[in-house]
Amino acid sequence: MTRHLIDIEALPPGDAERLIARAVALSRGARPEACRGEIIQLFWEPSTRTRVSFELAAHRLGLRPLSIDPERSSSTKGESLEDTCRTLAAMQPTALVVRHAEAGTPQRVAGALAGTGVAVVNAGDGARAHPTQALLDAATLADEGIDWAGARIVLLGDLRHSRVARSAFSLYRRLGVEDLRMSGPSALLPDPDDPAFRGVARVEDIDAALDDAGVVVCLRIQRERIRALSLPDADAYHAAWGLTEERAGRLRPDARVLHPGPVNRGVEIAPGVADGERSRILRQVRMGVWLRMAVFEWVAGAAESTPSA
Ligand code: ASP
Repeated sequence: MTRHLIDIEALPPGDAERLIARAVALSRGARPEACRGEIIQLFWEPSTRTRVSFELAAHRLGLRPLSIDPERSSSTKGESLEDTCRTLAAMQPTALVVRHAEAGTPQRVAGALAGTGVAVVNAGDGARAHPTQALLDAATLADEGIDWAGARIVLLGDLRHSRVARSAFSLYRRLGVEDLRMSGPSALLPDPDDPAFRGVARVEDIDAALDDAGVVVCLRIQRERIRALSLPDADAYHAAWGLTEERAGRLRPDARVLHPGPVNRGVEIAPGVADGERSRILRQVRMGVWLRMAVFEWVAGAAESTPSA
């Protein structure tokens, strides 16, 4: 069977834990599995860290990464997304890594590639899912020995438009975290019946939300997914909803601050907090490469064991 990484929910039982453990092991010097083949990256949305991270992960395993800018591809000549992907799959790469503004695109691509043996890895679809971000965040925390069952994890800011938040909560529930919270302006919090936020406490008062938190994840406002929204200016937003120096100073001494990037300094997080001792932001970036190596090993391992899948 070809293994696709579409979202956390579709991962077989135990595989999220295995990918996290493998990323941590690689980061500590475990020998990577030698892989052969190519990875094709198709990013319909802008990206710096995710694209480079996948590319470096491929290089470090011996896979050759190619990046295609869909805006300069045959998509502009009227070719459907499915046909573009089927054409690329016919050249037999190991996997396509796909990012798209429309939720559900990676599933569509996986459907189009059925029977080809080419895997699809989701690098972010709309506000729906960003599974490698969730896994690398968890690997960053696992590397520091977090106790999932006893952890209080708080996500701050724009949760409504965040694929990072949806994948994160899905993964943390799976890892056994019981105390999940979110806080932000009501216009940026999800609909109360959004199933992706099941079991997550909505705490209106940000200071109450942060009380005794072990992990705080700051999220930027996803302006590219918002048509009309009246929010206070950056300074007022920061004072009301940001992780200010003052709020960070009241966190537990062992609290860790995460941010998936890109960081908007002075808006969702104070510059001194982003660079401070609680910040794990650059560790997340570093772990991202190890985690994506683990994902490619996982994908390539399935391809090798079933060559005709
Ligand atoms: N880099 C993350 C994403 O692609 C978070 C963000 O853009 O705010 O979703």
